[in-house]
Amino acid sequence: MLYEVRHCTHCGTTLQPITLAEDGGDKERLRCPACGWTHWNNPTPVLAAIVEVGGKVLLARNAAWPGKMFALITGFMEAGESPQEGIAREVKEETNLDVLSTTMVGAYEFLRMNQVIIAYHVVAEGEVRLSPELVDYRLYDLADLKCWPAGTGYALADWLRTRGHEPVFFTAEENEERRRGLNLPPKD
Ligand SMILES: [Zn+2]
Repeated sequence: MLYEVRHCTHCGTTLQPITLAEDGGDKERLRCPACGWTHWNNPTPVLAAIVEVGGKVLLARNAAWPGKMFALITGFMEAGESPQEGIAREVKEETNLDVLSTTMVGAYEFLRMNQVIIAYHVVAEGEVRLSPELVDYRLYDLADLKCWPAGTGYALADWLRTRGHEPVFFTAEENEERRRGLNLPPKD
């Protein structure tokens, strides 16, 4: 959910579009006419993990997602932790797996949500127990993975190349079906 900021976080005054000189020149932003606070609207960092367990990659389905959508483990950083600590914590919270190693894959845009995705490959071990946030997971051989046209999907593609697999992307039709969860058998 993307919240719209309308009021000053310091004094509660309604923000207004105000132009001020910045390092890059004159810039209109939402600013507080009372105390001068600026709503910078910087992208929020989101951590993502390609979780390798027993030589396979775990993709999980969020309870809020349509039926066929399996993707990376993601989460927000907490104050006071490093990205590596953050992704290990998220993987533990969401899958119960213990992270043994973290390797940076890359940073990716997610413009629609005003986020930047910091993607890691993590090697993990243990017994999978999903958090209530996740409803299902699958373990994939690397050769069977398909990538999707979004930040975390590009991260998966970049990582597969480092492992000697030329990534295969879902076709537009497959991706639409994946997003909408068509043709799902009813759940017991
Ligand atoms: Zn203010």
